[in-house]
Amino acid sequence: SLNRTPLIAGNWKLNLDHLQSIAFLQKLHWSLKDASHDFDAVEVAVFPPFTDLRSLQTLVTADKYEIAYGAQDLSQHDSGAYTGEISGAFIAKLDASYVLIGHSERRTLHAETDEVVAGKVAAALRHGLVPVLCVGETAADLEEHGPSAVPVAQLRAALEGVAEGAEIVVAYEPVWAIGSGQAATPEQAQQVAAALRAELAQLLGEDAAASTRVLYGGSVKSGNIAGFMREPDVDGALVGGASLDLDEFASIVRYQK
Ligand code: PEP
Repeated sequence: SLNRTPLIAGNWKLNLDHLQSIAFLQKLHWSLKDASHDFDAVEVAVFPPFTDLRSLQTLVTADKYEIAYGAQDLSQHDSGAYTGEISGAFIAKLDASYVLIGHSERRTLHAETDEVVAGKVAAALRHGLVPVLCVGETAADLEEHGPSAVPVAQLRAALEGVAEGAEIVVAYEPVWAIGSGQAATPEQAQQVAAALRAELAQLLGEDAAASTRVLYGGSVKSGNIAGFMREPDVDGALVGGASLDLDEFASIVRYQK
């Protein structure tokens, strides 16, 4: 992971209302503080539902938590007649650092195309949010095209038109590993992370590729995180199910211990 600060991020999906999210973040903060977690050494971020963001902003600001937060999605559009959509401007105004883009559940359940994903990446960057761009192949893709072809193609499509040097985070999440209990092996994650980084060098330049964090996601738990983190091109994890269990998530954050 070179000079890249590891990032452990929790995707809460459609879980935890604003009151539950306040309680969870307070407990997470104190659990990590009690364990003397070095937040500069391993960054922590959570991705709550939109309706929690304002509450988390208040909590994090008032109590000076060193936990970052972001939205799970955003609109490609900044304003206008788009009922139900949330603008990057609104998310940025709540001091969010990040926004998930192109999660496999959005791609499949909400029919997000590569073109929509690219529009959302552009919108995030326009508003100073760091996109956490999710890419990953299905089991059928893996059989048909091998491990890296689909994630690399998704990366290329999503970064169409993005300026050299842009700050993004990439999350490699094999669809077959998400919520299945069947994580990729560290070697599999490393192979695709390295291929994504090579493509990043083409798309954003060598310096950006060297500083961009590539996360692994898909059935990460306290028992398998250390193996992923030992790989040179894996710079952290995007955690779904296990991010809702306080002790489990805190243990993942503290993978070095
Ligand atoms: C995810 O949905 O981003 C994810 C990685 O889920 P899980 O950890 O539950 O596999």
